[in-house]
Amino acid sequence: MTDYPHSADYPSPQLRVEALEALLVERGLVDPEMLDGFISRYVNDVGPMNGAKVVAKAWVDPDYRKRLLESGTDAVKELGFGGPQGEHIVVVENTPTLHNVVVCTLCSCYPWPLLGLPPNWYKDPAYRSRVVREPRKLLGEMGLELADDVEIHVWDSSAENRYFVLPNRPEGTEDLSEEELALLVSRDAMVGVAAVKAG
Ligand code: FE
Repeated sequence: MTDYPHSADYPSPQLRVEALEALLVERGLVDPEMLDGFISRYVNDVGPMNGAKVVAKAWVDPDYRKRLLESGTDAVKELGFGGPQGEHIVVVENTPTLHNVVVCTLCSCYPWPLLGLPPNWYKDPAYRSRVVREPRKLLGEMGLELADDVEIHVWDSSAENRYFVLPNRPEGTEDLSEEELALLVSRDAMVGVAAVKAG
């Protein structure tokens, strides 16, 4: 992504996207209906609930968890999740002493089939630089206070690897079903900027 010296001098990304789309449609390179369908699919049909199902299954099924950590892409395919931006999913597991958090320092690589489209803060240059430089401080500001003895590992997603966090299963959830567990898992927990709470 280009860092313009005075980004305020340039039209907003939305205007530029609209101009680009208009040009592509005018030249017959893109079908606007297909484009709308694509966006609608990722906004409405695909979302963090897919990722939450993966997490809940990994919590209740140790064999699935093992497969998920060995080959994320294959294991999420078992649940029917895959497609664009989901070709190389790598799952990293939190433990009581290790916390994982995901960023794309270059742009906004993100596991679309599991989490939908990335939130704006994920694309924000401030998040992308600070989570590398001062992850503990930034996570604290985002509401996730980690104990000093918890190590933080920052994973830089790219076209090669799209990281996905398997969060810690909260205490007090032993009696919950897989479906009930999935409801507890937030998008932010799967990016690694929040913990899963027992409800
Ligand atoms: Fe990226």
